[in-house]
Amino acid sequence: MLTDRAHKATQDTRRDIRSYKGIGVSPGIAIGRAVIVEKRIAAVYRVPIREDDVAGEVTRFLESLQTTRAELLELKEKVRRSMGDEFASIFEAHAMIVSDPSFADKVIQKIESEQVNAEWALSEVQEEYQARFQSFDNEYLRERMADVKDVAERVLTHLQGIAHHDLSEIEHDIIIIANDLTPSDTIHFNRRPIVGFATEAGGRTSHTSIIAKSLFMPAVIGVPRLTRIVDNDEMVIVDGYEGTLLVNPTPAMISEYKSRVSRHEEAERELLENRDLPAVTRDGRLISLQANIELVEELKDAVRFGAEGIGLYRSEFLYISKSPVLPTEEEHFSVYRKLAEALVPNWAVIRTFDLGGKKLAREVMGSKEDNPVLGLRALRLCMKHRDMFKTQLRALLRASAYGKLKIMFPLVSGVQELRQVKTLVREIRTELDAEGIPHNMDLQIGIMIEVPSAAIIADMLATEADFFAIGTNDLIQYSLAIDRSNENVSYLYEPLHPAILRLIKTVIDAGKRAGIPVSMCGEMASDPIYAIVLVGLGLEIFSMNPSSIPVVKNVIRSVRYRDCKRIAEIALQKKTAQEIEEFVIESVAMRFPEGLVSSNP
Ligand code: PEP
Ligand code: MG
Repeated sequence: MLTDRAHKATQDTRRDIRSYKGIGVSPGIAIGRAVIVEKRIAAVYRVPIREDDVAGEVTRFLESLQTTRAELLELKEKVRRSMGDEFASIFEAHAMIVSDPSFADKVIQKIESEQVNAEWALSEVQEEYQARFQSFDNEYLRERMADVKDVAERVLTHLQGIAHHDLSEIEHDIIIIANDLTPSDTIHFNRRPIVGFATEAGGRTSHTSIIAKSLFMPAVIGVPRLTRIVDNDEMVIVDGYEGTLLVNPTPAMISEYKSRVSRHEEAERELLENRDLPAVTRDGRLISLQANIELVEELKDAVRFGAEGIGLYRSEFLYISKSPVLPTEEEHFSVYRKLAEALVPNWAVIRTFDLGGKKLAREVMGSKEDNPVLGLRALRLCMKHRDMFKTQLRALLRASAYGKLKIMFPLVSGVQELRQVKTLVREIRTELDAEGIPHNMDLQIGIMIEVPSAAIIADMLATEADFFAIGTNDLIQYSLAIDRSNENVSYLYEPLHPAILRLIKTVIDAGKRAGIPVSMCGEMASDPIYAIVLVGLGLEIFSMNPSSIPVVKNVIRSVRYRDCKRIAEIALQKKTAQEIEEFVIESVAMRFPEGLVSSNP
C-alpha cells in the first residue's frame, strides 16, 4: 500500500535545474511531475486519554472505519472496471473486514477499558489477530492475516491523517520517486498517469528493474538520497538510457528530450525490420531468441519483437498480482493454457513460483527471515508449502495437454532436490490419471542453473533434467557474493568476471555432452557485447525481455561464430572482468568500426 508523502509547501520547493546520476535499468525517456511515495506509516505511541475523551476517541475510530470502507468500495469499483472482478474481490474482502463488528468491537473495548488512543488500540488488536492467525495450520486462515494487516494499516493512515492519494485522478503525467519499490508495487504502475520512476535503492537485475522493462517504463535506480533532494510536483525527466534524472528542466531541454524520444522510436522501427529474419551468424550458426515475460499481456510484445517462444515465464507474478489471495487451480490453468497455445509451434517454458527472497510472499512465508535471499525461496518454499505447489503443478500438467509447454524449477542446488520434485510430479500424474484428466506424458522438465553448486555439478544434473536455463542474475549474485538489489555493491556485479565465464562454459559443455538444450534467461543474455562472448562459448538459446530481441538479433546477424569462438577463448584466459570487457569491445571495434547496431542513437 503506497501512501504519498504530505505535499511540502510550494514556497520551499527548489526550482533550480539539477541533474542526478543513477543506473538506467529500463530504457526510454519519461517526462512528468514528481510524486514522492513513502510506505512508512508514522510510529504508533500509547497515549493515555481522559475518561471524558473516551467517547470522542471511539467516534474518531468509527469515522476512520467508515472512511476506509467507503474508500475500499470505491477502489473495488475502479479495479473492477479496469482489471476485472477477480482483482476487485480483494477489495471487497477488505471492506468486509472493516465492516466486521467483532473487529471494531475489540478496538472499541480496548479504547474504553484501557483509556488509550485509537491508533494504539487498533495496533494492539491487529497484533493479537496476527499472533492468532500465525498459529493456525490452515493455509487459508494464515492468508487472511495479511488482509487484516492491510486493512489495519489503511485505517491507521486515516487516523493519523495521512491521505491516500489516488494517483489515477491526477491529470498530468507523473514520475514516481521512492526510496525503494517492490515488484508488487511496480506491477501496478502499468497505466497513466505514471510514466516513469526513480528510486534510491535497487540493482540492475533486481525484479523491480525487470518489471519496469516489461512495462516499457523508463526507470533509474540507485540515486542517493533521492526522496530528500526532489520535491513533490517538480518537473522531472527520467532518462533510462543514460541513467540520469533531470529536475526542473528548461522548456528547451524538454523539447530536446522529446526529439530524442522520436529519434529512439525511429531507431527502434528500423531495428524491427529484422523481425521475421532468423538470428543466424554470417557463417550459418542458428541461434534461437526467446522472450522472458512476467505477465500474460506481454505475449503480444513477444510476437511484436519476433520472439521464437517464451524462454521464461516468471509465474510468481501471477501470484504477486493476485496477492493477498492465492491463485486457484483454474486461474493457474487458464494462464498456462493460454501460454501453451499462444506461440505454437514454439514452446513456452513456465517456471514454477520463485517466491521468497526479495519477491515477498508474505501470505505463505510465515516468519520474517534475516537473510531471505539465502532462505526459504523458490523451489524450497514450494516444497515446504505442498498444497500451494500441488495446485500449481496440477494446473501445469493439465495445461501441458493443450499446447507446447515445458516446466522449469528455480533455484535447484543439487540432484536430491531435483529428484524430490520429480517424485512429486509423478504423484500428481498418478492422481490425474486416476481422475481421468489428460496431461502430456512426455512433458519436459528442466531446471534453472542459478546456484553455483548446480553449475559445478551440471554434468550430474544433466542426466536427470531435460533442459537447463542459466539464470545469470542469481548465478552472479551467489557466485560473487553481490546482492543483486543492493546499489552499494552494484559496481562489483560483473557478468564478465572470469569465474562467471568459467561457470557458464561448464554448464554449456555439460548440456552438450548430455545432449540436452541449454539456454540463458538472465539479463546477461540481452546485452549485445556479452552476446558475442556467449555465442562464442557455444550458447544457442537466448531468452530476454522482448524489446531487447531486435538489437541482439542484429548483432548475431553481423558476426561470425568463428570469430566469437576465438573471442571467447581469449576472454577465458584473461584475469579480470575489466580486461575481458576491454578486449571484447576492442575486438568488436576492429571488426565493426562503425559500431554495433543498437537502439540507442
Ligand atoms: C536469473 O536468476 O537469472 C533469472 C532469470 O531468474 P530471476 O531473475 O527471476 O531470479
Ligand atoms: Mg533467478
